[in-house]
Amino acid sequence: MYELRWNPVLKWWVMVSSERQNRPLTPKDYCPFCPGSGKVPEEYGVLSYDNDWPILSPLPPEVTPVNSSIFKNAKSYGKCEVILYSPEHNSSLGELSDENIEKLIDLWVDKYIELGNRNFIKYVFIFENRGEEVGVTITHPHGQIYGFPFIPKKIEVELSSCKEYYEEEKKNLYLEILKEELNQEIRIVDENESFVTFVPYFADYPYQVFIVPRKQRLSIDELNGEEKIQLGKSLKRIVTTYDHLFERAFPYMMCFHQKPTDGKDYSYYQFHIEFYPPLRNEKTQKFNASSETGSWTHGNPTSPEEKAEELRKTMKKLYGDE
Ligand SMILES: [Zn+2]
Ligand SMILES: [Zn+2]
Repeated sequence: MYELRWNPVLKWWVMVSSERQNRPLTPKDYCPFCPGSGKVPEEYGVLSYDNDWPILSPLPPEVTPVNSSIFKNAKSYGKCEVILYSPEHNSSLGELSDENIEKLIDLWVDKYIELGNRNFIKYVFIFENRGEEVGVTITHPHGQIYGFPFIPKKIEVELSSCKEYYEEEKKNLYLEILKEELNQEIRIVDENESFVTFVPYFADYPYQVFIVPRKQRLSIDELNGEEKIQLGKSLKRIVTTYDHLFERAFPYMMCFHQKPTDGKDYSYYQFHIEFYPPLRNEKTQKFNASSETGSWTHGNPTSPEEKAEELRKTMKKLYGDE
């Protein structure tokens, strides 16, 4: 059984699936994403791959209607894909060659357009879970894409705030946040001609960063050639910096926020990337416990200004002042 179930109190859909429980554990030495596995071509640079255990599908099973005035369900329309960043097992987003990261960004763009064009997909969510701390057992560098048949709640909240701000101030909220961060300077970690990486003033995770384009771009497909190159650089630099903080593969959740694909006007929005790393320090993990989960109130046990400085220093050690 898999279906969407509506929560009328929080006004969101929950993706319910009983099949994923039966997902077999991958044997220790086997990597399905390595050439030679039988699952992927013998040669590839980057690759999109249909998730073997999708929670959303273009051909979802029929659902049994609920006989209720309160409860409501729907078919799990959508798409779940895995995005392989490289054929090299022991690589990472930070270690990709310039050529490979450009191919990866082009693949993200193609997927945003291709999935977004399907009439049952309203939001193309590009993301990466990295590390055991966020439940990932296959270390082969990869991310994922969910094509949602609805606009996820967090995006809905962002859109509504950006719209309200635009109506009141005639300005783009994300670009104003960026301007303020650049003015204050203290939380800026990295910048180039097209993108700025910073620990947001209101960071809810210790090593959280946002990557925001300097110009208004609603979605990844609006980036020009030069901007795509600069985005690749920004991504490589922050992930490499993360990995050198504690000299270990640094776990994170990387989430792309961009314009929904339901054809409506979102001219007040701004494409950006948010990183949520679950570590507080070398050994301690930040858990989402009662306050975070049950009241959506995050406690950040660190100062965003200090964490930005730590990231900046590590980055400077790696790259100098180039
Ligand atoms: Zn592999
Ligand atoms: Zn966002």
